[in-house]
Amino acid sequence: MNIWPLKFRDTTDGMVLFADDAGSFFKAGDEFLERYVSGNLSNSDQAFLREGGQSYDTELDLFWTSFAYRWSQRQSRPQRLNYVILVPTLRCNLACGYCQVSRAPETARGFDWTDETLADVLSFLETLEGPEIKIEFQGGEPLLRLDLLERVRDLCRARFSHSQFVICTNLQNLDQSAWEFLDAEDTFISTSLDGDWSTHERQRTHNNELTRTFFSHLEKVISRYPEGKVSALPTIDVKNPPDFEALLDNYERYGIRSVYLRPINHQGFARKIDQGADALQSWNRLHSGFIDLLIARNYRTGRFMEEYYFSQCLKRVLRFGADNHVDIRNPNFFASDYIVIDYDGQLYPTDEARMLSRIGRIDLGIGNVVDGINRAKIEILNSAALNHFDPDCIHCPYQPFCGTDVVDDLSRYGRVGIPRPDTWFCGRHLALFDKVFEILYRRDEATHASLAAWLGLPSWDDDMVTVHA
Ligand code: SF4
Repeated sequence: MNIWPLKFRDTTDGMVLFADDAGSFFKAGDEFLERYVSGNLSNSDQAFLREGGQSYDTELDLFWTSFAYRWSQRQSRPQRLNYVILVPTLRCNLACGYCQVSRAPETARGFDWTDETLADVLSFLETLEGPEIKIEFQGGEPLLRLDLLERVRDLCRARFSHSQFVICTNLQNLDQSAWEFLDAEDTFISTSLDGDWSTHERQRTHNNELTRTFFSHLEKVISRYPEGKVSALPTIDVKNPPDFEALLDNYERYGIRSVYLRPINHQGFARKIDQGADALQSWNRLHSGFIDLLIARNYRTGRFMEEYYFSQCLKRVLRFGADNHVDIRNPNFFASDYIVIDYDGQLYPTDEARMLSRIGRIDLGIGNVVDGINRAKIEILNSAALNHFDPDCIHCPYQPFCGTDVVDDLSRYGRVGIPRPDTWFCGRHLALFDKVFEILYRRDEATHASLAAWLGLPSWDDDMVTVHA
């Protein structure tokens, strides 16, 4: 009998977590680890591994093929380009202290698409194949150029059989024409809500009147539109986090049950903000505490809320194909299914790459709307966009669930290829997956209730995860 390689990591309960390359996992004690590494597996160990799909007899036998199938289902496959992030203007009517998108003042000139750029963007969109498209309007504040948004939406509706539009807006200025634009069923709203009134004001609006306008508009969009039309995200300052109970109260009040807790991004102008030497450890502690708070709160209220990215990681561990979030895709090839078009017609692989290029750190432009995608540059970026051969990741039990973030590495360290454990990405994901597995193996009712809700299951019990006695 041949055993597929197992990767392992100590867990806080004194046991060891094992995982194979296809993402099957179990916990066992140190004694099993001893027998595994010394090649002295008992009959019961061998029977256990056979049942778990971690062994085979000969190449291409049923066990071998089954493992290969499971491994292949964990890989992200290149898809058709059908998600385009558009930046029709960089201008914004707010000046959030950590603006992640390298904004320009509202009155500045030269930061909107010109007529020529608009025509080029429309031509570019027309070349995209397939029946559906999703457009995300970013900025700046995209509603400052409603005319451009309308031209894009008209074109997409005529060109594709299914089209969807997301407006990322600060909700500060909603005049009659903006309401009419947002009323369309195919158009969704994404905004930022950093917590309670005072946190939102401190981090974004800086003035009571603007805060009042924001919350009044948020109330209006929530009451005017059906559930699911409006989403919101908080950006968290790790040195000055909001009261999380108050943040959850506020989100729940607006009918938003999925909260995507994001640290201040290390791109764009936010790079200048000092988040402290132990920012990573502080973030991991904060996030872990937030998950515990959610579990207790969900159990107490009977109304289930989730942390979006944690739920994505949880699903990624337990299901095939759960790689909607690019950070946990592997390989995470660029310009495959989505691309960014900036205010000047430049193409970028991600919004973070756009911000990094804008501050002159590195040019991550991958072409423009006239000449198309620079495939040679994409190939260079793609060469680092997978974790299969990384000398650290290949020993990590989280490798089948984890991904890469080339742009974040370039932003923080100026290069790719530094040892994984020294990167923010790895430090964050090690902690995240440690938490995922800690939660999966908890045996209390409150955790089981949240797990079931987050995974969309009727219930969760102790037998859902395996322990080798
Ligand atoms: S990046 Fe870190 S957590 Fe992710 S697979 Fe590699 S070593 Fe593991």
